[in-house]
Amino acid sequence: MSKIVILTGAGISAESGLGTFRDEDGLWAKHAIEDVATPEGFSRNPALVHEFYNARRAQAAEASPNAAHVALARLEAEHQGQFLLVTQNVDALHEKAGSLRVIHLHGELAGAMCNACDDKWVAPLVMSPEDECGFCGAKATRPDVVWFGEIPYAMDAIDAALSEADIFAAIGTSGQVYPAANFGYIARNSGAHTIELNLETSGVSNDFAETRRGKASEIVPAWVEEILDK
Ligand code: NAD
Repeated sequence: MSKIVILTGAGISAESGLGTFRDEDGLWAKHAIEDVATPEGFSRNPALVHEFYNARRAQAAEASPNAAHVALARLEAEHQGQFLLVTQNVDALHEKAGSLRVIHLHGELAGAMCNACDDKWVAPLVMSPEDECGFCGAKATRPDVVWFGEIPYAMDAIDAALSEADIFAAIGTSGQVYPAANFGYIARNSGAHTIELNLETSGVSNDFAETRRGKASEIVPAWVEEILDK
């Protein structure tokens, strides 16, 4: 029975109305990454960082999963072998679509944590630098998202799954953020069939044995249908 590992990126949520990194009008375009997605940016101006993630949390709460999220939930439910879904996204659209086991490599908007003691809890809709950690009392709360320069979550489990995968698919990701950008290369070298499903050629398309171009809401359900028919 085949082992499937999937990596998703911002592109899978684009048709649900959540902007990707590069969207011209998106939230990301209005802020420098160094200001809102690095530990240094947070130390400089925590209010700005909270404001940015509060806006993203509010936007994500309104968003609904699209056909690509739904197709991956179906694949998890109906595939007869092992299945692992890894997402770089901080939204919860995979869970809203019915995916049961999702590794959020870069954390989640739904989570909050304390920068002083590492305690974690469910994020309120609006966070502020004045909030106190319920455990240690420090005014050092932050979104539980992984910023540039920080270590992504669950890398040991992901590396193990990649080394054993029969099929690895990367969906809606530009292949510019490491270590996720390396997953196709690692899986292919470990013997997996690798496929990239993306709107356009990415920075790592050459690492994949097969590439399909198009909107995630169209090409992902079609691919899932093929896999389940095999
Ligand atoms: P990215 O913005 O760098 O790349 C998105 C990719 O998706 C692009 O290659 C683009 O061509 C493709 N794409 C756009 N619309 C698509 C569609 N409808 N169907 C298929 N593909 C489409 O995003 P990334 O590679 O995920 O990396 C950026 C980082 O940005 C991640 O760390 C992630 O945490 C963060 N991010 C997350 C969200 C989210 O949670 N929804 C949104 C923006 C950024």
